[in-house]
Amino acid sequence: MESLVESSMVNRNLHYAPDYVELVERALQTALTATPAYASWRRFERSAVPANVFLHLAALPALTKRELRDYGPAGFVPAGRNLGQALASGEVELVQTSGTTSDQVTNVWYQRWWNECEANSWQLNRYAREAATGSHREAILTSPLCSGVPCEEALLPPAERHIGRFLFLSERVDPRTWDDALMARMVSEINAYQPVLLEANPSFLAILARYILRSGAAVYRPHLITFTYENPSLIHYRLIGRAFGAPLASSYGATEAGYVFMECEYGRLHQVCRNVHVDFLPFRAEHGGPLVGQLLVTTLTNPWRALLRFDIGDLARLAEEPCSCGIDEGLTLAGIEGRTINLTYAPNGRAVTQGEIDRALAQVAGLVEYQLLQSAPEEYGLSLVVEGAAPAATADEARGRLQTLYGAQAKVSAEVVQAIAPDPPGKYRLVKSVLARDTSALLEPRYAPPVLEE
Ligand SMILES: [Zn+2]
Repeated sequence: MESLVESSMVNRNLHYAPDYVELVERALQTALTATPAYASWRRFERSAVPANVFLHLAALPALTKRELRDYGPAGFVPAGRNLGQALASGEVELVQTSGTTSDQVTNVWYQRWWNECEANSWQLNRYAREAATGSHREAILTSPLCSGVPCEEALLPPAERHIGRFLFLSERVDPRTWDDALMARMVSEINAYQPVLLEANPSFLAILARYILRSGAAVYRPHLITFTYENPSLIHYRLIGRAFGAPLASSYGATEAGYVFMECEYGRLHQVCRNVHVDFLPFRAEHGGPLVGQLLVTTLTNPWRALLRFDIGDLARLAEEPCSCGIDEGLTLAGIEGRTINLTYAPNGRAVTQGEIDRALAQVAGLVEYQLLQSAPEEYGLSLVVEGAAPAATADEARGRLQTLYGAQAKVSAEVVQAIAPDPPGKYRLVKSVLARDTSALLEPRYAPPVLEE
């Protein structure tokens, strides 16, 4: 009997709905035989691998943002569909992802598909299942450049931030500009609107949560709070849980791929099998594998965008046991381990994920925000925001925990700051590294994708 972890490597012996294999097979064939961007992939002949769609997928390269840019949106539209016509009729539109300039990708955006994907994700969490109908009231707190109505010069009345069933709580990109009056306004608007769901960038909502906790303001308790836009820190869960007393769930996806995993009421992330297939590529044991690895996402139902083995840019940790919620379809994750570009390295070369750093720092009492920068192979600088009477002791404890994580060779510094700045377009990066290492070397070679020749 294979363990859940071994099964997850090649999606073997995992539970799937009866039509799942057919959906994956169809997505694979549509991409390989009818989508321009995959012309060079056709040489990865099926005859060379066993007759199993998961093993066939495993023999294919990974799709990166570079290919998405090189081929453009039209390169991923399957044959027989007229993109020009659909754009003209308004059925689809082109949207740019909110990455940095070098990272931006233009996607064909098909709202109907997106809504279906979101509704599928709600089925995987008890509280979302109970309350999310698609017509429920939703409040959103994130950078307005990601979603909402940006305005830096003035404060907008609620009517200008209330669109359909959504109320956007902030018009400001940088939470460092929020004063108590603005946060009091957010609380009173939540209380008046009584959202069923509060969807938030966890960094943004944690700052509001700290205001609620220190001011003692009474705040309405939504049926569920979902985190998107960023991978939440354990510190965010703790602060937001204390301030709101509501169930919390991370909703994980990407503009390119839709909704990919949803956190259930037991804290595990379940694959949204109606939307996507996910290949898990384990790291070598010396880098935290085989439980930690890279995610490649194949979209199953988007008629306007055939993505095969798309490197979504995140690392994950597999769950070792079946989840208590009873959902056993597809991959189950213990958590997202952070962005691949946010990987740091110990002086001995071991990869250290954002998740590891977060688990170490979350235990430090009084630490409410942080950012770690690896500036050289042996140098790590922590900036931290502290609440409480002993900031120096808090900084010292945080530094000590990082020293233990990276080893005796590491030079770790810790500096208490007033606030931490988000990166454009309003996303926090809790960990950064100047080391640009080829992460394919971290993968267990048996599962590493073949590399496309130029
Ligand atoms: Zn579960």
